[in-house]
Amino acid sequence: MSCRKVGAAGLAAALACAALTGCMPWEDEPEKKIGAAAKGQGGTTDQAAVRREKAARAAKVKANELGQIPVMMYHRVVDKPTAPDDRTPGQFRKELERMAVEGYVPITAAEYVRGRIGVPAGRHPVVLTFDDASPAQLTLDGTGTPVPNTAVAILQEVARKHPGFRPTATFYVTRDLFGKTTPEEQTQMLTWLRENGFDVGNHTYGHRNLLGLSKKEAMTEIAKGHELIAELTGTDPVTLALPYGNQPSTTTWALKGGMGDVSYAYGGVFRAGYTPGPSPFSKDFDPVNLPRIRSMDKVKKDDCARFCSTAWLDWLKANPGERYTSDGDVATVAYAKFKAPFMASRFTPYALPY
Ligand SMILES: [Zn+2]
Repeated sequence: MSCRKVGAAGLAAALACAALTGCMPWEDEPEKKIGAAAKGQGGTTDQAAVRREKAARAAKVKANELGQIPVMMYHRVVDKPTAPDDRTPGQFRKELERMAVEGYVPITAAEYVRGRIGVPAGRHPVVLTFDDASPAQLTLDGTGTPVPNTAVAILQEVARKHPGFRPTATFYVTRDLFGKTTPEEQTQMLTWLRENGFDVGNHTYGHRNLLGLSKKEAMTEIAKGHELIAELTGTDPVTLALPYGNQPSTTTWALKGGMGDVSYAYGGVFRAGYTPGPSPFSKDFDPVNLPRIRSMDKVKKDDCARFCSTAWLDWLKANPGERYTSDGDVATVAYAKFKAPFMASRFTPYALPY
């Protein structure tokens, strides 16, 4: 059983894997600091002191690793929007700048669902997702550099201006693959993304509405998209975003299934609305039903007055007790003691209450 496959199968399976093979959800992290001390299971005086020190550090930054994480949903970034989900380069840049200034650090959807949230103490993770693989998101020039004003170029620009704002995102691709038609060009695009620290997720092969499809039809759409990405990148995608945000009639068909000799088992399945996401360590985390937030300003007489990105960034800023704040240690789950009932019990060994 490989750890990569285990990650894709979700956190519960990852922990089961830990028992079998010694690999952990945080396996790839350079330093794993968790130990008896952090587990709070007796240990020596030294370990108790280390634990107290970690708890004090977590308290100092008001760490809240059971708090909510915004998962932003973007489509095209274009000068002249023609669809409700389009954003202009100026609007997109402004939103990224705001998140950088307010202490957010991008992580990928794969890191989010695996609970591998390595952001500095006091900062807040945000997941940036891009649907439908349009050229407005990524086009490379002759030297393999993202063309100015594409989403990736803007994200990299903002990251250069704001050190610590990590230029990463998850691209939910379909067969459209950024407008590229040959396998060589398609491979170039996906390889570029992976080599530059981006994550590639499945958005199904042909972007069909899964609601109303038979089990076989729905799983075929998902498996074909999965296979396309796996073949072009050599790596299985870890998450799926549902076309139009619509679940198949049995929701778990999207999480785990297959067609022929292709099988998939995702760590998370994302919808297309309307709230920030729960912490992966929280009891509320439901891998088959993860929400995303549409990027849009507050618009009067529109759902966006409450349910789009500007409204939620305002809300999270005004309600810091509800927002995920990191303690800077990827291997602990730190939170104020009174929040203990909200933690999923499988993470108890990593708990750092203060
Ligand atoms: Zn889509």
